[in-house]
Amino acid sequence: MKKIGVIGAGLMGNGIAQAMAMKDKQVILQDITEDALSKARHKIEKSLARLEKAGHINHDEAKRTLSNITTTKELEQACQDRDLIIEAVPENLELKKSIFEKLDQYAPNHTILATNTSELSVTSIAASTGRTDRVIGMHWFNPAPIMKLIEIVKGIDTSDNTVKAIEQVSEDVGKETVLVKDTQGFVTTRALSAHMLECMRIYEEGVASLEDVDKAIRLGLNYPMGPLQLADYVGLDTMLFASEGLVEAFGDRFRPPQILRKLVEAGHYGVKTGRGFYSYE
Ligand code: NAD
Repeated sequence: MKKIGVIGAGLMGNGIAQAMAMKDKQVILQDITEDALSKARHKIEKSLARLEKAGHINHDEAKRTLSNITTTKELEQACQDRDLIIEAVPENLELKKSIFEKLDQYAPNHTILATNTSELSVTSIAASTGRTDRVIGMHWFNPAPIMKLIEIVKGIDTSDNTVKAIEQVSEDVGKETVLVKDTQGFVTTRALSAHMLECMRIYEEGVASLEDVDKAIRLGLNYPMGPLQLADYVGLDTMLFASEGLVEAFGDRFRPPQILRKLVEAGHYGVKTGRGFYSYE
Protein backbone atom coordinates (compact mmCIF):
# COMPACT_ATOMS: atom_id res chain seq x y z
CA MET A 1 0.00 0.00 0.00
CA LYS A 2 1.70 3.12 -1.23
CA LYS A 3 -0.98 5.62 -2.19
CA ILE A 4 -3.14 6.92 0.64
CA GLY A 5 -6.05 9.38 0.73
CA VAL A 6 -6.97 11.15 3.97
CA ILE A 7 -10.41 12.81 4.14
CA GLY A 8 -10.70 15.66 6.68
CA ALA A 9 -7.57 17.68 7.49
CA GLY A 10 -8.34 18.57 11.13
CA LEU A 11 -6.55 17.47 14.30
CA MET A 12 -6.49 13.78 13.36
CA GLY A 13 -6.43 14.03 9.56
CA ASN A 14 -3.29 16.16 9.37
CA GLY A 15 -1.56 13.94 11.96
CA ILE A 16 -2.45 10.76 10.06
CA ALA A 17 -1.25 12.31 6.77
CA GLN A 18 2.05 13.27 8.42
CA ALA A 19 2.54 9.85 10.05
CA MET A 20 1.99 8.13 6.70
CA ALA A 21 4.16 10.56 4.71
CA MET A 22 7.03 10.25 7.20
CA LYS A 23 7.21 6.57 6.16
CA ASP A 24 7.24 7.41 2.45
CA LYS A 25 3.57 6.86 1.67
CA GLN A 26 2.19 9.18 -1.04
CA VAL A 27 -0.63 11.06 0.64
CA ILE A 28 -3.46 13.22 -0.72
CA LEU A 29 -5.11 15.17 2.09
CA GLN A 30 -8.64 16.46 1.39
CA ASP A 31 -10.86 18.97 3.19
CA ILE A 32 -13.78 21.18 2.21
CA THR A 33 -12.09 24.57 2.62
CA GLU A 34 -8.74 26.01 1.53
CA ASP A 35 -8.44 27.48 5.02
CA ALA A 36 -8.56 24.01 6.65
CA LEU A 37 -5.95 22.74 4.20
CA SER A 38 -3.57 25.63 4.75
CA LYS A 39 -3.91 25.28 8.55
CA ALA A 40 -3.16 21.55 8.17
CA ARG A 41 -0.03 22.25 6.08
CA HIS A 42 1.11 24.78 8.67
CA LYS A 43 0.56 22.31 11.54
CA ILE A 44 2.49 19.58 9.72
CA GLU A 45 5.39 21.97 9.03
CA LYS A 46 5.48 22.99 12.70
CA SER A 47 5.33 19.39 13.89
CA LEU A 48 8.17 18.36 11.54
CA ALA A 49 10.26 21.32 12.68
CA ARG A 50 9.76 20.23 16.33
CA LEU A 51 10.72 16.62 15.52
CA GLU A 52 13.80 17.86 13.64
CA LYS A 53 14.82 20.13 16.51
CA ALA A 54 14.47 17.24 18.96
CA GLY A 55 16.72 15.09 16.72
CA HIS A 56 14.01 12.52 15.85
CA ILE A 57 14.31 13.20 12.12
CA ASN A 58 16.87 15.01 9.96
CA HIS A 59 16.29 17.93 7.60
CA ASP A 60 16.07 15.72 4.49
CA GLU A 61 13.44 13.50 6.12
CA ALA A 62 11.38 16.56 7.04
CA LYS A 63 11.61 17.85 3.45
CA ARG A 64 10.78 14.46 1.98
CA THR A 65 7.75 14.11 4.27
CA LEU A 66 6.37 17.44 3.08
CA SER A 67 6.92 16.53 -0.57
CA ASN A 68 4.97 13.28 0.02
CA ILE A 69 1.80 15.24 0.89
CA THR A 70 -0.44 17.01 -1.60
CA THR A 71 -3.76 18.65 -0.75
CA THR A 72 -7.06 19.09 -2.53
CA LYS A 73 -10.61 20.29 -1.98
CA GLU A 74 -11.95 17.76 -4.50
CA LEU A 75 -13.09 14.47 -2.98
CA GLU A 76 -13.01 12.72 -6.35
CA GLN A 77 -9.37 13.70 -6.85
CA ALA A 78 -8.46 12.40 -3.38
CA CYS A 79 -9.87 8.99 -4.33
CA GLN A 80 -8.05 8.46 -7.64
CA ASP A 81 -5.40 5.69 -7.69
CA ARG A 82 -5.59 5.23 -3.93
CA ASP A 83 -4.88 1.90 -2.23
CA LEU A 84 -6.30 3.08 1.07
CA ILE A 85 -8.54 6.01 2.05
CA ILE A 86 -8.79 7.02 5.71
CA GLU A 87 -11.75 9.19 6.70
CA ALA A 88 -11.25 11.64 9.60
CA VAL A 89 -14.23 14.03 9.39
CA PRO A 90 -16.24 15.03 12.51
CA GLU A 91 -17.89 12.31 14.62
CA ASN A 92 -21.31 12.31 12.97
CA LEU A 93 -22.78 9.08 11.62
CA GLU A 94 -24.88 10.65 8.85
CA LEU A 95 -21.92 12.73 7.62
CA LYS A 96 -19.62 9.71 7.61
CA LYS A 97 -22.18 7.56 5.79
CA SER A 98 -22.69 10.19 3.09
CA ILE A 99 -18.92 10.46 2.60
CA PHE A 100 -18.48 6.67 2.38
CA GLU A 101 -21.20 6.53 -0.24
CA LYS A 102 -19.13 8.95 -2.37
CA LEU A 103 -15.82 7.21 -1.60
CA ASP A 104 -17.37 3.97 -2.83
CA GLN A 105 -18.41 5.72 -6.03
CA TYR A 106 -15.06 7.48 -6.72
CA ALA A 107 -12.41 5.04 -5.45
CA PRO A 108 -11.06 2.14 -7.53
CA ASN A 109 -12.51 -1.27 -6.79
CA HIS A 110 -9.46 -2.54 -4.85
CA THR A 111 -9.32 0.47 -2.49
CA ILE A 112 -9.83 -0.19 1.22
CA LEU A 113 -11.97 2.44 2.95
CA ALA A 114 -11.15 3.06 6.63
CA THR A 115 -12.84 5.25 9.21
CA ASN A 116 -11.04 6.87 12.13
CA THR A 117 -14.25 6.99 14.19
CA SER A 118 -13.71 6.83 17.98
CA GLU A 119 -16.94 4.99 18.72
CA LEU A 120 -19.48 4.92 15.89
CA SER A 121 -20.58 1.66 14.25
CA VAL A 122 -18.14 0.64 11.51
CA THR A 123 -20.75 -1.84 10.28
CA SER A 124 -23.30 0.93 9.83
CA ILE A 125 -20.79 3.15 7.98
CA ALA A 126 -19.82 0.18 5.77
CA ALA A 127 -23.48 -0.45 4.90
CA SER A 128 -23.56 2.82 2.94
CA THR A 129 -21.12 1.26 0.42
CA GLY A 130 -21.24 -1.63 -2.00
CA ARG A 131 -17.95 -3.03 -0.66
CA THR A 132 -18.65 -3.89 2.98
CA ASP A 133 -15.79 -6.46 3.00
CA ARG A 134 -13.30 -3.64 2.27
CA VAL A 135 -14.47 -1.20 4.95
CA ILE A 136 -12.77 -1.16 8.34
CA GLY A 137 -12.16 0.96 11.44
CA MET A 138 -8.62 2.33 11.76
CA HIS A 139 -8.66 4.22 15.05
CA TRP A 140 -5.58 6.43 15.48
CA PHE A 141 -4.59 8.42 18.57
CA ASN A 142 -3.54 12.03 18.99
CA PRO A 143 -0.83 13.06 18.12
CA ALA A 144 -0.90 10.49 15.31
CA PRO A 145 2.80 10.78 14.31
CA ILE A 146 3.86 9.99 17.89
CA MET A 147 1.26 7.65 19.40
CA LYS A 148 2.13 3.98 18.93
CA LEU A 149 -1.30 2.32 18.72
CA ILE A 150 -3.83 1.79 15.96
CA GLU A 151 -7.04 0.09 17.13
CA ILE A 152 -8.35 -1.95 14.18
CA VAL A 153 -12.11 -2.42 14.22
CA LYS A 154 -13.57 -5.32 12.26
CA GLY A 155 -17.12 -4.70 11.08
CA ILE A 156 -19.58 -7.57 10.61
CA ASP A 157 -18.64 -8.00 6.92
CA THR A 158 -14.99 -6.84 7.02
CA SER A 159 -12.89 -9.57 5.37
CA ASP A 160 -9.80 -11.17 6.91
CA ASN A 161 -7.79 -9.93 3.90
CA THR A 162 -8.80 -6.36 4.69
CA VAL A 163 -7.74 -6.82 8.33
CA LYS A 164 -4.38 -8.26 7.21
CA ALA A 165 -3.79 -5.37 4.80
CA ILE A 166 -4.46 -2.80 7.53
CA GLU A 167 -2.24 -4.66 10.01
CA GLN A 168 0.51 -4.62 7.38
CA VAL A 169 0.22 -0.91 6.51
CA SER A 170 0.12 -0.04 10.22
CA GLU A 171 3.34 -2.00 10.76
CA ASP A 172 4.89 -0.28 7.69
CA VAL A 173 4.37 3.10 9.36
CA GLY A 174 5.79 1.92 12.68
CA LYS A 175 2.58 1.32 14.64
CA GLU A 176 1.39 -1.48 16.90
CA THR A 177 -2.15 -2.76 16.43
CA VAL A 178 -4.95 -4.41 18.40
CA LEU A 179 -7.91 -6.07 16.72
CA VAL A 180 -11.32 -5.38 18.25
CA LYS A 181 -14.95 -6.24 17.53
CA ASP A 182 -17.26 -3.52 16.31
CA THR A 183 -18.88 -2.61 19.64
CA GLN A 184 -19.71 0.83 21.06
CA GLY A 185 -16.48 2.60 22.07
CA PHE A 186 -14.28 -0.39 21.12
CA VAL A 187 -11.62 -0.91 23.85
CA THR A 188 -9.98 2.49 24.19
CA THR A 189 -12.87 4.98 24.00
CA ARG A 190 -14.95 2.85 26.40
CA ALA A 191 -12.12 2.45 28.93
CA LEU A 192 -10.95 6.06 28.71
CA SER A 193 -14.50 7.45 28.96
CA ALA A 194 -15.18 5.41 32.13
CA HIS A 195 -12.01 6.82 33.71
CA MET A 196 -12.53 10.42 32.63
CA LEU A 197 -16.25 10.56 33.53
CA GLU A 198 -15.52 9.18 37.03
CA CYS A 199 -12.79 11.82 37.53
CA MET A 200 -15.28 14.54 36.51
CA ARG A 201 -17.71 13.18 39.14
CA ILE A 202 -14.94 13.20 41.78
CA TYR A 203 -14.29 16.88 40.98
CA GLU A 204 -18.04 17.68 40.87
CA GLU A 205 -18.54 16.12 44.34
CA GLY A 206 -15.85 18.47 45.69
CA VAL A 207 -13.53 15.65 46.76
CA ALA A 208 -10.56 17.68 45.48
CA SER A 209 -9.84 20.77 43.39
CA LEU A 210 -9.55 20.61 39.60
CA GLU A 211 -5.78 20.85 39.76
CA ASP A 212 -5.52 18.24 42.52
CA VAL A 213 -7.70 15.67 40.73
CA ASP A 214 -5.39 16.00 37.71
CA LYS A 215 -2.25 15.99 39.85
CA ALA A 216 -3.39 12.90 41.78
CA ILE A 217 -3.93 10.91 38.59
CA ARG A 218 -0.75 12.23 36.91
CA LEU A 219 1.66 11.64 39.77
CA GLY A 220 -0.13 8.90 41.73
CA LEU A 221 -1.18 6.72 38.81
CA ASN A 222 1.62 7.82 36.48
CA TYR A 223 -0.61 9.06 33.65
CA PRO A 224 1.08 11.56 31.31
CA MET A 225 -1.81 14.04 31.60
CA GLY A 226 -4.58 14.68 34.13
CA PRO A 227 -8.04 13.46 33.00
CA LEU A 228 -9.74 16.89 33.19
CA GLN A 229 -6.96 18.54 31.23
CA LEU A 230 -7.10 15.69 28.73
CA ALA A 231 -10.88 16.15 28.41
CA ASP A 232 -10.23 19.79 27.43
CA TYR A 233 -7.85 18.59 24.70
CA VAL A 234 -10.19 15.89 23.38
CA GLY A 235 -13.09 18.42 23.35
CA LEU A 236 -15.92 18.39 25.91
CA ASP A 237 -18.52 18.25 23.11
CA THR A 238 -16.84 15.09 21.83
CA MET A 239 -16.71 13.66 25.39
CA LEU A 240 -20.44 14.34 25.89
CA PHE A 241 -21.33 12.80 22.54
CA ALA A 242 -19.24 9.70 23.30
CA SER A 243 -20.77 9.25 26.75
CA GLU A 244 -24.32 9.49 25.37
CA GLY A 245 -23.53 6.71 22.88
CA LEU A 246 -22.03 4.60 25.69
CA VAL A 247 -25.12 5.13 27.90
CA GLU A 248 -27.26 3.77 25.10
CA ALA A 249 -25.08 0.67 24.81
CA PHE A 250 -24.11 0.00 28.45
CA GLY A 251 -26.50 1.98 30.66
CA ASP A 252 -26.13 4.39 33.53
CA ARG A 253 -22.50 3.83 34.36
CA PHE A 254 -21.58 6.13 31.47
CA ARG A 255 -24.14 8.85 32.31
CA PRO A 256 -22.48 12.25 31.69
CA PRO A 257 -21.91 14.31 34.88
CA GLN A 258 -23.80 17.64 35.20
CA ILE A 259 -20.55 19.60 35.03
CA LEU A 260 -19.83 18.17 31.57
CA ARG A 261 -23.34 18.97 30.32
CA LYS A 262 -23.24 22.52 31.72
CA LEU A 263 -19.85 23.35 30.23
CA VAL A 264 -21.01 22.11 26.81
CA GLU A 265 -24.33 24.01 27.10
CA ALA A 266 -22.28 27.15 27.79
CA GLY A 267 -20.20 26.56 24.65
CA HIS A 268 -17.05 25.82 26.67
CA TYR A 269 -15.68 22.89 24.70
CA GLY A 270 -12.10 23.00 26.00
CA VAL A 271 -8.90 24.11 24.27
CA LYS A 272 -10.63 24.72 20.92
CA THR A 273 -12.97 27.39 22.36
CA GLY A 274 -10.46 28.80 24.88
CA ARG A 275 -12.33 27.47 27.91
CA GLY A 276 -13.34 24.11 29.34
CA PHE A 277 -12.44 22.83 32.80
CA TYR A 278 -9.48 25.23 32.51
CA SER A 279 -9.10 28.58 30.71
CA TYR A 280 -6.70 28.97 27.81
CA GLU A 281 -5.30 32.23 26.51
P1 NAD B 1 -11.61 18.04 13.64
O1 NAD B 1 -12.86 18.79 13.87
O2 NAD B 1 -10.32 18.56 14.16
O3 NAD B 1 -11.40 17.82 12.04
C1 NAD B 1 -12.42 17.43 11.17
C2 NAD B 1 -12.10 18.00 9.78
O4 NAD B 1 -13.03 17.47 8.86
C3 NAD B 1 -12.20 19.52 9.70
O5 NAD B 1 -11.00 20.06 9.16
C4 NAD B 1 -13.39 19.76 8.78
O6 NAD B 1 -13.24 20.92 7.96
C5 NAD B 1 -13.35 18.49 7.94
N1 NAD B 1 -14.62 18.18 7.29
C6 NAD B 1 -15.89 18.43 7.73
N2 NAD B 1 -16.78 17.99 6.82
C7 NAD B 1 -16.06 17.45 5.81
C8 NAD B 1 -16.40 16.86 4.56
N3 NAD B 1 -17.68 16.71 4.19
N4 NAD B 1 -15.42 16.45 3.74
C9 NAD B 1 -14.11 16.59 4.10
N5 NAD B 1 -13.72 17.16 5.26
C10 NAD B 1 -14.68 17.58 6.10
O7 NAD B 1 -11.92 16.55 14.18
P2 NAD B 1 -10.85 15.47 14.71
O8 NAD B 1 -10.61 15.65 16.17
O9 NAD B 1 -9.72 15.42 13.73
O10 NAD B 1 -11.75 14.14 14.58
C11 NAD B 1 -11.94 13.50 13.34
C12 NAD B 1 -12.38 12.05 13.59
O11 NAD B 1 -11.35 11.38 14.33
C13 NAD B 1 -13.66 11.91 14.42
O12 NAD B 1 -14.36 10.78 13.95
C14 NAD B 1 -13.13 11.66 15.85
O13 NAD B 1 -14.03 10.96 16.65
C15 NAD B 1 -11.91 10.82 15.51
N6 NAD B 1 -10.86 10.81 16.55
C16 NAD B 1 -10.55 11.95 17.24
C17 NAD B 1 -9.52 11.92 18.19
C18 NAD B 1 -9.16 13.15 18.98
O14 NAD B 1 -8.36 13.06 19.96
N7 NAD B 1 -9.67 14.33 18.62
C19 NAD B 1 -8.81 10.73 18.43
C20 NAD B 1 -9.13 9.59 17.67
C21 NAD B 1 -10.16 9.64 16.72
